Amino acid sequence: LSFNSARFLISASRLDECPPDIGAEVAFAGRSNAGKSSALNAITVNGKLARTSKTPGRTRLINFFTLNKENVRLVDLPGYGYARVSRDMKDDWQKHLGHYLNDRRCLRGLVLVMDIRHPLTDFDQMMVEWCEHNNLPLMILATKADKFKYGQAKTAMLGIAQKLKAYQCVEHLIMFSATAKTGLEECRTALTDWLEA
Ligand code: GDP
Repeated sequence: LSFNSARFLISASRLDECPPDIGAEVAFAGRSNAGKSSALNAITVNGKLARTSKTPGRTRLINFFTLNKENVRLVDLPGYGYARVSRDMKDDWQKHLGHYLNDRRCLRGLVLVMDIRHPLTDFDQMMVEWCEHNNLPLMILATKADKFKYGQAKTAMLGIAQKLKAYQCVEHLIMFSATAKTGLEECRTALTDWLEA
């Protein structure tokens, strides 16, 4: 599987706009500004993927990217925590995202991107609980690790691991940095395992 061949496929605001539910997908979620787009860019070595998802009008959509193998996709879920959207829009967003997570049969796993300096926000916790409840494998990228000295980052990782130790769904907990390219290979290997299984 080659991640640097990722190409934008389609944006969807509803389940019936998503590509056919066949093959394998891994979805990326995270609080706005956590570093999800940068992580996707680093993984795919493509500066344009993030821009695609950040194009006005697409930020609240589910964005699909194809890899070099047929029906293998990475999915960028809308970032959570838009300060400026109304409550109705948030409800709408949660409903559509909920439909995707609940109904998507080709979903192999979820990558939850969190800022290593602000791990396990309420939203993150909610996603972890959801994965646990639905037996969906979870990969956590604790990103922006370059903001810490190595020792601090290690300590932060131990703290996160401790908080997650009761959860069976957590298959990978990776110290990550899009800037310093930390954890990239570990992440790609885990994604390949999920997508090619
Ligand atoms: P998104 O909203 O989750 O897609 O977040 P972005 O990828 O746009 O990143 C939010 C901000 O964090 C931007 O200013 C990025 O440059 C910065 N950022 C993202 N990843 C890293 C990282 O690994 N290290 C550092 N130092 N900054 C990062």
